[in-house]
Amino acid sequence: MKHPVIDIEPTERLKKLPPYLFAEIDRVKRELIAKGKDIIDLGVGDPDIPTPDFIIEVLAKAAKDSANHRYALDQGMPEFRKAIAEWYRRRFNVHLDPNKEILPLIGSKEGIGHIPLALINPGDVALVPDPGYPVYKSGVWFAGGEVSLMPLLQENDFLVDLKAVEEDIPERTKFMFLNYPNNPTAVCAPKDFFKKTVSFAHTHRIIICHDAAYTEVCYDGYRPPSFLETDGAKEIGVEFHSLSKTFNMTGWRVGFVCGNEKVISLLAKVKSNLDSGIFQAIQLAAVEAFKHDETVVKDNVAVYQRRRDILVDGLNALGWNVPKPKATFYVWVPVPSGYTSQELASKLLKDGGLVVTPGNGFGANGEGYIRMSLTVNESRIKEAVARIKKLHEH
Ligand SMILES: *Cc1c(COP(=O)(O)O)cnc(C)c1O
Repeated sequence: MKHPVIDIEPTERLKKLPPYLFAEIDRVKRELIAKGKDIIDLGVGDPDIPTPDFIIEVLAKAAKDSANHRYALDQGMPEFRKAIAEWYRRRFNVHLDPNKEILPLIGSKEGIGHIPLALINPGDVALVPDPGYPVYKSGVWFAGGEVSLMPLLQENDFLVDLKAVEEDIPERTKFMFLNYPNNPTAVCAPKDFFKKTVSFAHTHRIIICHDAAYTEVCYDGYRPPSFLETDGAKEIGVEFHSLSKTFNMTGWRVGFVCGNEKVISLLAKVKSNLDSGIFQAIQLAAVEAFKHDETVVKDNVAVYQRRRDILVDGLNALGWNVPKPKATFYVWVPVPSGYTSQELASKLLKDGGLVVTPGNGFGANGEGYIRMSLTVNESRIKEAVARIKKLHEH
């Protein structure tokens, strides 16, 4: 007997997601790999350096302790929240109450994706940078909200132009996503910009959700500030942070949000209905990570900085015009004239075996750029530069 067939249709919220822009690049990449071609992948934002051993050892030991096998506390282990508070004080001189102003997350993406459920009603608006991390938009849409894009333009050093936003701020705007050091443009925000943002938030009565995933991936002795260092920031905002990029722990899924107590309690309420905390063995390993942040960060950054210099100096020697990022493991490369972002990405892949991300994949204002990640080793970066040089010669 034939079973009745039901139509399984995507929901409106899923239909609202933009088409996947990298489908064609992914297809060509798979095809070339199948043909045995040597592909250098500068597309992904995922550290190639392994998690430090001392962190893995704590996990291994804690994993064997049956006390860690049960549901974890929704609000995270007190030890973990305390370690985060101590790190924020040491690193940023920001004081946080571990009981009320810190909430562990299953990776910061989890919190970024869920926070719109805590802050907006259907029809409310969120301000989102463009280009930007795609989760900002999808989280807002999933919550039934509207996205109002804030262009990040080179003429403004890729900082949000708050004056332009102010001139045309939609009614029912509830919050703004911000992200510095920025993915994908790799720029950092000066403290003065954060100051203006706090005052903007007070004037327009909106919440700021700052994504600080890359504050520890920074070069030439520069240390990016936390948004929460700004006077009055805690009254109007929260900051998302993560162990992923700082400690090479992307696969572990551990991050946190800190700052405004009320915002944090609302997100905690959403999460208590969706998840049941982070595996305690991972939280204990995270506590250990924060005790040794100085050494881990120093080693990582030295590796990325050498790669950055080889890539940027190499491209500039070919007449490209690539600024050296002060932070993040990305290089935001202006596309030489005669190409769109997609065309250059396709050419680099087909003729050079290099995967890069076309800037327009992060939003319309990313057109004219490609993003290259520093997450392959030095000899591969050298090889990538050599292949681009060869393309110039043909
Ligand atoms: C990598 C990244 C994150 C989040 O990483 P998690 O692994 O979920 O903590 C958040 N924001 C930006 C901009 C990122 O690039």
